[in-house]
Amino acid sequence: MKFGVFLALIKMKFSDYPIAQAIKDQLNQLEFKKPTDIQFKSIPAILKGEDVMAIAQTGTGKTAAFVVPLLDHLIRKHRGSYKGIRTLVMVPTRELAQQINEVFNTIAKKTEIKSFGLYGGVEQEQQIKRLSKKVDVLVATPGRMFDLIAQGAIDVSRVEHLVLDEADLMLDMGFKKDIDDIVKKIPKNRQTLFFTATIDKKIKSLAYSVVKDALRIQISPKNPVAKNVDHAVLFVEMDDKRFFLENILKEYEEDKFLVFVRTKVRAERVVGAMDRVEMPTRFFHGGLEQSERFQILDAFRKDEIRVLVTTDVAARGIDIPSVKYVINYDMPDDPENYVHRCGRCGRGRNRGQALSFCSPSEKEFLAQVEEYTGETIEQYEMEPGDYSAIMFDSDDASNNWQKLLDEDNDFNNKKDEW
Ligand code: ADP
Ligand code: MG
Repeated sequence: MKFGVFLALIKMKFSDYPIAQAIKDQLNQLEFKKPTDIQFKSIPAILKGEDVMAIAQTGTGKTAAFVVPLLDHLIRKHRGSYKGIRTLVMVPTRELAQQINEVFNTIAKKTEIKSFGLYGGVEQEQQIKRLSKKVDVLVATPGRMFDLIAQGAIDVSRVEHLVLDEADLMLDMGFKKDIDDIVKKIPKNRQTLFFTATIDKKIKSLAYSVVKDALRIQISPKNPVAKNVDHAVLFVEMDDKRFFLENILKEYEEDKFLVFVRTKVRAERVVGAMDRVEMPTRFFHGGLEQSERFQILDAFRKDEIRVLVTTDVAARGIDIPSVKYVINYDMPDDPENYVHRCGRCGRGRNRGQALSFCSPSEKEFLAQVEEYTGETIEQYEMEPGDYSAIMFDSDDASNNWQKLLDEDNDFNNKKDEW
């Protein structure tokens, strides 16, 4: 008999869930047919009103795991009468605030529920104006939220659900005090949900300081790396990395790439090097104006940019489903970032590939990554002679003496033909 129950569970589709039809219609529109593992386990508990602490690898659909049941709550309770902000989602970055807000508004499209994404780096006036209208769900970064609470533009006294998304990054970014502060301002009698890709002592203690009896749901705890991603490492001299990047970008000219580097300056340099070989790329980093950051991500999302060269600022949470390749142009110095960077591809049901360029001086970082993930990364296969061939193939002739000599020979040969 148990077997039968099991089968029924496997077959469970969103259409079988006890949730509002308007939500189901939108999920259908998004082609979300069946829940992912974390959704399957979290949604019923959240629908019941329980506190949940959910730990699942990046790219496994944690956003909809809370958006779907919370929207259902919002639709069913206080039907028709506006009660102000009832769901507060705190996120660590502006890009995430925008992205998660968008998921809320998309899934809520056929309902009365309105979500608003609030973040710093842009003018306040428009935000204050928007906040004076209907906002049921506020998705916010802490800084701007506290500013506007202080100014009286946000009322959190009626919050029924608090979500801390990317809780691990919130801690890394030093938002612990902000979390404690917001908890003091909102009603005690609320549902609290925690979502995180990684778990350690600090997160656990944060979780238990905010919730009492959270139901802990954990998917694939052992290996934090997304399972849809294939990994390889290429041993390459630091100065030769650009030739390999050029080669790969030219080889896979249809595909979308996210290229991670260690610093802002390096991001700009790599873009410069690719410009010289007429390979259009763009850089993205924390030194850009916020409006520009949004605009670049948006263009990347819409395929107007194919290759984005970025620092780790884009490593966490950003969801662009069509990214096929992640290149670690520089090895991350924090092994946890390896997991987050690679998690930018292979999202949802897609497969992705992650290739790391490792120079001799970065081998210690590679060792750290392998220790952290518990897996040896496969070495990228290269035939003898391939390395020099790739350098030789570069269109960056100024840096390739061999090519210059060759062109010189060519010229002399041609002269003979004249
Ligand atoms: P996480 O927060 O776990 O990193 P996201 O919530 O950003 O992951 O979701 C990752 C990707 O998976 C997104 O592109 C999302 O649209 C897709 N996705 C989420 N749930 C489903 C589902 N049930 N079916 C198909 N795709 C899904
Ligand atoms: Mg997420």
